[in-house]
Amino acid sequence: MSELGPSPLAAGERNLSVDEAREAIAAALRPLPRSASLELPLQEAVGRVLAADLISPIDVPAHDNSAMDGYAFAGSALRADATTVLRAAGTVYAGRPFAGTLAPGRCLRIMTGAVMPAGADTVVPLELAQVQGAADSGEVSIAPGVIRPGENRRKRGEDLAAGKPALRAGRLLRPADLGLAASLGLTHVRAMRPLKVALFSTGDEVVEPGAPLPEGCIYDSNRFSLGAAVRRLGMEVIDLGLVRDDRAALAAVIERAVAEADVVITSGGVSAGDADYTRDILAQAGDVSFWKVAMRPGRPFAFGPLRRPLDQRAAAEGAPAPSSWLFALPGNPVAALVTFYAFVRDALLALAGATPVPLPLLSARSTVAIRKRPGRTEFQRAIVEPAPDGGGWQVRLFGSQGAGVLRSMSEANALVVLGHAQGSVAAGDAVAVWLFDGLV
Ligand code: AMP
Ligand code: MG
Repeated sequence: MSELGPSPLAAGERNLSVDEAREAIAAALRPLPRSASLELPLQEAVGRVLAADLISPIDVPAHDNSAMDGYAFAGSALRADATTVLRAAGTVYAGRPFAGTLAPGRCLRIMTGAVMPAGADTVVPLELAQVQGAADSGEVSIAPGVIRPGENRRKRGEDLAAGKPALRAGRLLRPADLGLAASLGLTHVRAMRPLKVALFSTGDEVVEPGAPLPEGCIYDSNRFSLGAAVRRLGMEVIDLGLVRDDRAALAAVIERAVAEADVVITSGGVSAGDADYTRDILAQAGDVSFWKVAMRPGRPFAFGPLRRPLDQRAAAEGAPAPSSWLFALPGNPVAALVTFYAFVRDALLALAGATPVPLPLLSARSTVAIRKRPGRTEFQRAIVEPAPDGGGWQVRLFGSQGAGVLRSMSEANALVVLGHAQGSVAAGDAVAVWLFDGLV
């Protein structure tokens, strides 16, 4: 890859806060075009990004209907100062509309959701009516003042008018959204194609699980935790395995990743003192920035578009510009996941065309004092649980917060996020918490 020019490493590393890094990433990214989409059956669309506004083909509800079990009648019959007396003329059930027009002085027993009969615009709930005789043919009395004309009628198109968007493009489709699409009579939605994310690990000491573990080596865990996190976002993982600290091998894997994927995620080899070649090769493969982010864990981080020099060549030949976005994460297993949550998750969703949906921050009371110095963001593994006194949530920190202790991440259900400017926290203070698992 010698034709790719000098490494931008000479420009040095930038020191950034977490917010600055997030902003720099968000400003650089360009989402997939909306045309990168396909029609998907509703059953396969959960977690996908809606590619076009979902326009309702029908009014919802499709007819005026009753909001209550009761009696339907013309509101004009109501008397302000005396009991209104009506004669029941049958029953209307949901799904079986009344064929005729209601005559003056008559009412119909009606079920919730049943179509309002012609001639009726008001429903008196059962519990507000007195009935003498059979429910569907007796005399129905309504005391003055208990109901106003037009009440308990749901109007056609009241929830959603035909031709109006039921869901906006960019929506990350949740179960209720797919139910909503079905309620409009739709069977498919137009969804963005899944983002393709190539993933590889680097480091000569890193070994494939399943193989014997030589002295001084560790198993590759990052490819599995990061791969799972990407798949959970509904994206496609292209697993490029483990790559030796070898120039040719690294260059080849990057070339392949750029050709096949929208995004390339690597871990390891990006810290300044690193002996391996990853950093160097990555720097030459595109317009990659190496950052020292003021955070703990997860300081070294690299981001940028790959293969820019090749893009220019391709553009000169009139070919579509191939490119991918690189996220090079620290090798430490906890730092790799924390930087994924802090930077990569939202970036992947934005690239996939999703309208930003930040991870919700919960407020919880810390059970212990936490020492923290202003000037960096800290992410601490923790367990969030209901406070024993019934007063909201409390959060318990783990003993070991070492960046390599993956078990602490596995046992945690949340990260306490201590902001850049924040100082130490006293026991009982509220802190911001990121839950690992959202609602499904
Ligand atoms: P590095 O960022 O390459 O300096 O790596 C920092 C630490 O993370 C070192 O102890 C590595 O052995 C470890 N590490 C790097 N890559 C992985 C990986 N894929 N899985 C588990 N640990 C790793
Ligand atoms: Mg390394």
